[in-house]
Amino acid sequence: MKFDLIWKRLSPSVINFCLRRDIIRRALLKKAEEKLYENFVIKNTGSRPPLIQKARAKMLGNLLHTVNAALSDGRISPGVFEAITRNFIGNILLGEENRTAHFHERYGIYPPAFLTISPTKKCNLFCTGCYASSSSGSAETLGYDILDRIIKEKKELWGSHFTVISGGEPMLYHDREANKGLFDLLEENSDVYFTMYTNGTLINKPAARRMAELGNITPAISVEGFEEQTDGRRGKGVFGRIMQAMDNLREAGVPFGISVTATRNNVDAIMSDSFSGLYFARKGAVYGWIFQYMPIGRSYTLDLMITPEQRLALFKNKQRMIHESNLFLVDFWNGGPYSLGCISAGRPGGYFYIDWNGNMAPCAFFPYYLSNIHDVYREGKTLNHVLFSGYFKSIRKWQNDYGYTQPAGKVQNFIAPCIIRDHFDHALGMIKQFGAKPLDMNAEQALGDTDYHKGMSRYGEEVDRLTGPYWKKEFMES
Ligand code: SF4
Repeated sequence: MKFDLIWKRLSPSVINFCLRRDIIRRALLKKAEEKLYENFVIKNTGSRPPLIQKARAKMLGNLLHTVNAALSDGRISPGVFEAITRNFIGNILLGEENRTAHFHERYGIYPPAFLTISPTKKCNLFCTGCYASSSSGSAETLGYDILDRIIKEKKELWGSHFTVISGGEPMLYHDREANKGLFDLLEENSDVYFTMYTNGTLINKPAARRMAELGNITPAISVEGFEEQTDGRRGKGVFGRIMQAMDNLREAGVPFGISVTATRNNVDAIMSDSFSGLYFARKGAVYGWIFQYMPIGRSYTLDLMITPEQRLALFKNKQRMIHESNLFLVDFWNGGPYSLGCISAGRPGGYFYIDWNGNMAPCAFFPYYLSNIHDVYREGKTLNHVLFSGYFKSIRKWQNDYGYTQPAGKVQNFIAPCIIRDHFDHALGMIKQFGAKPLDMNAEQALGDTDYHKGMSRYGEEVDRLTGPYWKKEFMES
């Protein structure tokens, strides 16, 4: 019998038992890598460009290797390991095929894989250029019942067992009326795996231990580079508190990652080997996300954005880290080849975004919405209502035409995949066509500022001009 058929017949507890043994795990890791290559490169069911498929298999292989290393070093506690096995293998890899197939049969597309939800605008820091424009005084918070309903409903409708929590600061989420917070949500949805973008300053030892007990969360902690850059953007002393949070998580056995906002000022620091050495080798981060500063938020000046030249340098550096240092490092927006382009607006395998007011936007970085979840539920509808709205459908059509469903030779530059950042005119056209509303005041100001529009359009053209040749060389030539 074939390996994957046998694997699928094993219960999560047997899989868990196998994975806890180093020798079995190493053998399985080798097999998993072969499977990744077979599925992505040899079978290549979507007829994607072969070099993209190789890159995607490599990236996932890197993730498996880092998790393996974390397990071997005892950086993952038994509770966490059990929850990861249950959710990723039990639910995400093995358990939900029927539900997604059923969705496909009914609607002709596969469902989104997850949602990103910012349940509260509250934050204990005040970082320059934060897209959430958060503050400690802000009280805008999603009610617990609604939050819980969304998580359960996406499981039911889409077979989605993965949720991203963003902010504000997720650790501050608390619904006073229900007297429930983030950890209640994790406990009551133990068949969902969560990641949260956090500033890390509230992860003390008891919080880290609680996360280890619950097992179904991995924090991605925001850093800005080294101490100078982190304290410079986030406030004095924050770097030290982050270092402590990482130690607390490692001690408790909770896998964590880093999340970096690349700006014109810190991009050189985050491209250095000492940066990856500090967070991956020394502190024990398992994965990393790079978000290039997006000029919509508290200050929508374009001056903090990395230049097109820096963006190309970042792309080349990220390729080196993936292929030579074997890191699992995802760079929005240079990572388009790995995600097959833009994943917003509920694209199959992608997501959409819900903020603290319940407004639903295509993406956290595309802050213009049409529907609100409170209205949707009041009218007796579901999350599918927004998924199949004309607004989201037309963004998905743009993604398809740009490359997602195109044959290998017709895929356009996935190093510049972002509809709002790299192809601003298209995004603006859709916002106007559907009358989408800004999520906040800064998004509103950006919408009315023609200099901003011109600057964004010029930026996109320049990025495409610079990255186009690399796109062809790295991913399109066979
Ligand atoms: S809109 Fe841009 S940031 Fe959002 S998913 Fe698409 S490519 Fe990424």
